[in-house]
Amino acid sequence: MKNQNKLIIFDLDGTLYQLDSGSFQKSSLRRQILKNAETYIAMKLSKNQPDARCILNDIQKQYGEQISIGLEKDFGINRYDYFNTVWNISARRIVKKAPYLKKTLLTLKKTYMLALVSDAPLVWINNVLEELGIQNLFRDNIFSGEGSYRKGLNNAFPNIVQILKIKPSNCVVIGDQEHTDIIPAKELGMRAILINNTKKSRIADATIKSIRELPATLKNKKCLRLDHHHVQAHWQSLHQHFFSQKYLGLCRTLRLLLALGLTWLRGRLRLTGNRNLFQRQKIKLRRFLPPSTQLLRLDFQNLLNI
Ligand SMILES: [Mg+2]
Repeated sequence: MKNQNKLIIFDLDGTLYQLDSGSFQKSSLRRQILKNAETYIAMKLSKNQPDARCILNDIQKQYGEQISIGLEKDFGINRYDYFNTVWNISARRIVKKAPYLKKTLLTLKKTYMLALVSDAPLVWINNVLEELGIQNLFRDNIFSGEGSYRKGLNNAFPNIVQILKIKPSNCVVIGDQEHTDIIPAKELGMRAILINNTKKSRIADATIKSIRELPATLKNKKCLRLDHHHVQAHWQSLHQHFFSQKYLGLCRTLRLLLALGLTWLRGRLRLTGNRNLFQRQKIKLRRFLPPSTQLLRLDFQNLLNI
């Protein structure tokens, strides 16, 4: 039976279809957009092509991928006019339709609500969905990047949660970019699955090669059962992120020092034969350790139990 409280949020480019180069940055789609943007700037500001290229480079330096916002702020160009011109690209040559896609999404739709989020404007989203033959699957749950809520601005997922009135723990995000799909979702307390052919994510709850694997992954992986131990799953993900990103070296050094200290302490206690003192130290040290140091605690317990 369909559960209206469970939501799968799909990214578009690189997720519902494979990008030709493996990433948006290197894709022919991006090249086409930048070429169109250059022509658009030249036309709109009455510049020649090299001058338009310089303006576009400056906008990119200042605003990154948010070109529409840069043009709006610096030159008063309406972003919708920009989107409808620059992004109105035929999807036929760019999008390769996977034969299993529609069937897989229809299977998932029996159990979950489906949503789509992309920083791309609606004109491109509609072109792609039409090419993929799935334009009716997401209905009102399409969140495009024309407004001020974008994944690139790190506010797209909180916006979806608010609009659909759903708990983050009941949502799973499927995307191909760790920084814009996986990390923001995990930080909000959602589950996240990375789509990648070659690299396994250390932050996502699972990594799959294609959408075809999604129904089985959602069913079989315990941590992906929505609204089940969500607090623990969120905590674990932050813990993994924290140690995997910033302080892995420091953490390893501390673990080593602690292990050495405990080995020394154990040797001393063995020499004195004072097992009671050893037990007391074990309890004291356990109290000291915050719950976040699961790795440390594991090592500590291993050492003590040898
Ligand atoms: Mg993507």
